[in-house]
Amino acid sequence: MAPRVIPVDPFDLVIFGGTGDLAQRKILPALYRRFCGGHFPEEVRIIGAARADISTEDYRQMVAEGVKATLNEHGPGAAGIPEFLRRVTYVSLDAREDRGWEPLAAQLAEVEPRPIRVFYFSVGPGLFGPLAERLHRHGLSDEDSRIVVEKPFGHDLQSAKALNATLAAHFTENQIYRIDHYLGKETVQNLMAIRFGNMLFEPLWNSQYVDHIQITVAETVGVAGREEYYDRAGAMRDMMQNHLMQLLCLIAMEPPAKFDPDAVRDEKVKVIRALDPVEPYHIVRGQYNAAAGGKGPDLTYRETVGNPRSSTESYIALKTHISNWRWAGTPFYLRTGKRLVARSSVINVLFKDAPHSIFGEEAGRHANHLKIRLQPNEGITLSVTIKEPGPGGMRLVDVPLDMSFATALGADGKNPPDAYERLITDMIRGNQTLFMRGDEVAAAWAWTDPIIAGWQARGDVPKPYDMGSTGPGDADLLMRRDGREWRGINP
Ligand code: NAP
Repeated sequence: MAPRVIPVDPFDLVIFGGTGDLAQRKILPALYRRFCGGHFPEEVRIIGAARADISTEDYRQMVAEGVKATLNEHGPGAAGIPEFLRRVTYVSLDAREDRGWEPLAAQLAEVEPRPIRVFYFSVGPGLFGPLAERLHRHGLSDEDSRIVVEKPFGHDLQSAKALNATLAAHFTENQIYRIDHYLGKETVQNLMAIRFGNMLFEPLWNSQYVDHIQITVAETVGVAGREEYYDRAGAMRDMMQNHLMQLLCLIAMEPPAKFDPDAVRDEKVKVIRALDPVEPYHIVRGQYNAAAGGKGPDLTYRETVGNPRSSTESYIALKTHISNWRWAGTPFYLRTGKRLVARSSVINVLFKDAPHSIFGEEAGRHANHLKIRLQPNEGITLSVTIKEPGPGGMRLVDVPLDMSFATALGADGKNPPDAYERLITDMIRGNQTLFMRGDEVAAAWAWTDPIIAGWQARGDVPKPYDMGSTGPGDADLLMRRDGREWRGINP
């Protein structure tokens, strides 16, 4: 079943930071794939902007190389690149000075204005405010323009509020698109389809039937390339406050009345506000050390960031509760870390045991388990209990009911659309459902700040863990104390 192609309206997209890593690796390749998919009309213009003094021809060359580096046998080939590049131009400007803004204005005015104008802030967070101000000062935005703001959105509650206020001085909330690319993943959206499009799950989706929920985002990469930023941020700010929090919201929120931006985001923010403060003994912080068995060729965390006394965490696991009628009593265990054994993002919903086994203890006790894999191999597996085949009496086993998107939809499971493809299309269409609202981000910081302040007050030092492991042993203890265990990181 081929997906329906509904082209977007003509648009101008200005990518500030158009020569940067994110633009080259994610944004422009995502635009290319959508272009090849027939989603863009003829009158589309993409303008890269950065300080580098290069020509449009140089920039097109750079974009062509960036796009080619992302192609594989499953997606579009390189044949569409020349036609795509016809829509791409470049302007050299500085976000902190007036240099370059007139030429940008001139480019935008060259042809009849497109109905949609999007400004993508793919630059360091220190430039979000200056860009918003200069767009306004140079008269480049109107009430229909949109700005797209990358993460990190603030460093704490105070800075996030200040940034919200700076942006709000020039743009209304419905013009501001705060990106969390996890929300663009197919499986994350499927989570909502499964919860709210079926009768089967929602009646069981509460503390009466759910024993606990685990959210794991494990990475094999370290912090190389982002040393300075990461050593100031750590896993709590870099991952927990945004990506894991967003996943928690979608798994725990009440059914919104409609699938529209404010209805969904109203429900998400209620979840964050209902989160209990986390007890210090319900948090494990870790920092990657030498590889198991001794020091390997790879650098430890402290060597990577060049700070031998760093007490920044590259791993965090915690247990929290949501104090509302639906979830009171159900623990949520969240963990994320770098340099772990596998790259894996997965949500596990562990249901309670059946209240009584009519088969006797020897048949075994089994609980249902819903596993939502975000990466790799996006998909959802529900394990159900059946009789073990054969004449040997009634013994129970778990078998997976696999909702593999590739099989069910005839989709190419090896090449799901990148999250940025979905999010870019949404921002052009003006749909904010999968973007964070200002109050959501602030609420997440309000929950995060006291946790970090507690570590600072106690002089907390993260536990070392081996590279290539599943994280510090104390994270397993966090579970074992509750008679539970983490579901494996390996996909
Ligand atoms: P990057 O590779 O350092 O690129 C930064 C871009 O900003 C470059 O194009 C740079 O070009 C431009 N720039 C810097 N100062 C400027 C100024 N004063 N005026 C105009 N342009 C300026 O950074 P990145 O990795 O692409 O990240 C961009 C944003 O996305 C950051 O907020 C980051 O946190 C976020 N993000 C990145 C990733 C990722 O995978 N890379 C993932 C999630 C979020 P010039 O130096 O030539 O000006």
